[in-house]
Amino acid sequence: MKLTRIRIVILFISAIIGECAALVLIFALLASAEPSASARTQDIPVGTQKENTALSDPSSTSGPSFDIKAEIQVAGRLVSIREDILIDERRDVAIVYLPSINHAHTEIINVSSDGTSVEFDVKDAYLEVYGPIASGKLSLEYKITLADNLGILSCSDGRVVLSNFLATPAVYRDGSPILTFKYDYGDPYIYNVYDYHITFKAPKGLTVFAPGKQQESVSGDVKITIFEARNLRDFSSVLLDDADIKTERIGSTIIYYIDSFRSAPYAGQAFRFAEENIGPYPHDELFIIRLPLKLNGMELSNMILLSDSCFENEQKLKGVVYHEVFHQWFYNIIGTDQINEPFFDEGLANYLAMYLSNYKPAKNAGDRFLNLALKDYRSKAEYYKHVYNDAAAYFGQLHNKLGDDFFPLLQKVYAERKFTILYFEDFLKQVEEYVGRQ
Ligand SMILES: [Zn+2]
Repeated sequence: MKLTRIRIVILFISAIIGECAALVLIFALLASAEPSASARTQDIPVGTQKENTALSDPSSTSGPSFDIKAEIQVAGRLVSIREDILIDERRDVAIVYLPSINHAHTEIINVSSDGTSVEFDVKDAYLEVYGPIASGKLSLEYKITLADNLGILSCSDGRVVLSNFLATPAVYRDGSPILTFKYDYGDPYIYNVYDYHITFKAPKGLTVFAPGKQQESVSGDVKITIFEARNLRDFSSVLLDDADIKTERIGSTIIYYIDSFRSAPYAGQAFRFAEENIGPYPHDELFIIRLPLKLNGMELSNMILLSDSCFENEQKLKGVVYHEVFHQWFYNIIGTDQINEPFFDEGLANYLAMYLSNYKPAKNAGDRFLNLALKDYRSKAEYYKHVYNDAAAYFGQLHNKLGDDFFPLLQKVYAERKFTILYFEDFLKQVEEYVGRQ
C-alpha cells in the first residue's frame, strides 16, 4: 500500500469485538492513504435480496441430512425454539451448550429422545442430559426472553438480533468436554461445524437475514423463512423491519451490506487480502450488518455485526471491519478454543488487521497470555491488553521470524484445517514442521 504521507495516528478503538463492552485499545496506526477509487466496489446491483430456492424436505430419509434442525418462533421479545440435534449416544451424560444463557433469560421446557422425556440439569451455560439417548437424537424445547439491551441476543425497535443462541453439542478434546460458562466479556463459546436446517416463523413485517439457501412464504400475518446452511460454526440471524441492502460479488462470494455499505471498501480490502494470502472463502455469502450495538463489532458465521459507533470514525470503521473480516478465516472457517485459548483468533485477527493497516505492533509484549484461559483474566482491561494487543505483537514476532514463509504457512494451515477446531498446540506443531522443512 503506497503511503502518500506518513503520520502517526493514535486510534482509540473502544471495545473491539467479541463480547466486549468498553475497553480502550491503543491502536497506533501508520495512517495509510484512504482507499483508492479502484478499491471501491463497482457494478453493484442495488437492493438485491436473496432469491427463493427450492429446498429439500428435512424429514425425508432419502434427502440431504442436517446436524441441527430448529423451528424458531419469534413473537415480540419471546423466542420459542424446538430443536433437534445429534449427539454421541455412547456417552452416559450428554453435554449440550446453551449459549443464550449468556445474554438472555433461557427456560428449558423439555428434553426428549424418540418422543420420551429424558432427565437433565442446567449447569452454568450448558445442559447435562442423562442417557442413554436412543440413536443419538435429542430434541429440545426452550424459550428465550430477549432484553432491549443492544446486545448480540436482543430486540429493540423493529430489530431482533439472534446470535450465539442455538443449543449445540459440546466439543470434546482428548475425550473430555470443554465446558462453557456465563461470562461478562470475551467469547465464552466454542462450536464444531454443522449443517443447519432452520425455520423461522416471525411477524410478516420482519425480514430474516441469515446464511444459506432460503425459502420464504407468508401465511396470514406470519412469514415463514427456511434456511439450509452447510459448514457453519454458529447459526446466527438478524430480523429487520426495514433495511438498505446492497451487494457486491468478490470471487464466488456475494457480500450483503445491510445498512452498512460505507464499510464496503474496507471489507473488500480485507476479504481480497485474506483470499490471496490465506485461502479462498468457502461460503457463497457474507452478511455485514450495521446495528445499534453496545459492542463495536461481532464475528459470527458468514456474518459480521458492526455497531453504529463504527460509522462515526473512518479509522475505527476500517480497523473494526478488517478485524472482523479476518475472523471469518480465524473463528468461522478455522475454529479455535475461545474458552481456553482466547488469544489465538483474537490475536491473529488483530495482527492481520494491523498488518493490512501498515501498523507494526509493539515488540517484546510478553507471552503470559499463552497460559491464560478466558476465566483466568481478572478484569476486562487485563483481558484486552493480553488477548488483543500482546497476542497481536506475538503474531507480529512470528511473522518477523518466518519472514516470507508466514503467509505460505497460514495457507498450509488453512488448507489442512479448515472447518475444524485448531488448538494452539497443534498450530505450533505446524509452525515447527514448516520451519523444519525449510
Ligand atoms: Zn475479535
